[in-house]
Amino acid sequence: VSTSTIGSRVFDFHTHTFYSDGVLSPMEQARRAAVAGYQVLGLTDHMGIGGVKRLIETLRDDRMVIEEAWDLRVLVGVELTHVPAQAIGRAAEHALSVGAEIVVVHGETPVEPVPDGTNHSALECGLVDVLAHPGLLTEADAELAAERGVFLEVSARRGHSLTNGHVVRLALASGARLLVNSDAHEPSDLLSPAFQERVARGAGIPHELLEEVLVANPQRLLDRVLARRI
Ligand SMILES: [Zn+2]
Ligand SMILES: [Zn+2]
Repeated sequence: VSTSTIGSRVFDFHTHTFYSDGVLSPMEQARRAAVAGYQVLGLTDHMGIGGVKRLIETLRDDRMVIEEAWDLRVLVGVELTHVPAQAIGRAAEHALSVGAEIVVVHGETPVEPVPDGTNHSALECGLVDVLAHPGLLTEADAELAAERGVFLEVSARRGHSLTNGHVVRLALASGARLLVNSDAHEPSDLLSPAFQERVARGAGIPHELLEEVLVANPQRLLDRVLARRI
């Protein structure tokens, strides 16, 4: 039985390896993603400021080999997590300066809570690409996301997914762009096109916007990110 999906391949900008609390090496994560039919895999381990340069260099070495061998784009980046709100701009700037291609911030969410003000600082600094699972998003911050071109994440991860409906509702009202990411920490968390679409639908994204969220927005972010590649 063939099931047709909006997107034919997965764009997933937010995953973890054993360089933070994920279980796989970057190489194994990429191999599994390639086999699962991914088009884009973001490697975004939990980081602050220290060690980011080494991590990015390490990931870039693997990325080169992976992209030569398999039909997969690997984006090297970080998920800034538990950084004091007032230092998020500095941490994002540092990550970009040492070669991160994508900067994700671990948003304020009911589970795994980070400091108050994280969502606002991440949106305000103008250097963050994706605000991950921003479950406690305010209307004003959703408007700021639209203004600053920060993608708001709909999360496939249990716990973080509790507030997807709220995030989607505010994003639709403000015009902020949405993405669906896995936030994978283990192999079984990787997405299929069909599951990614079910997460989007379950979060309340209307049918007429699925193509925008699952295909057009990921392509927009990919274009932005690849322009940084060195
Ligand atoms: Zn996170
Ligand atoms: Zn994460």
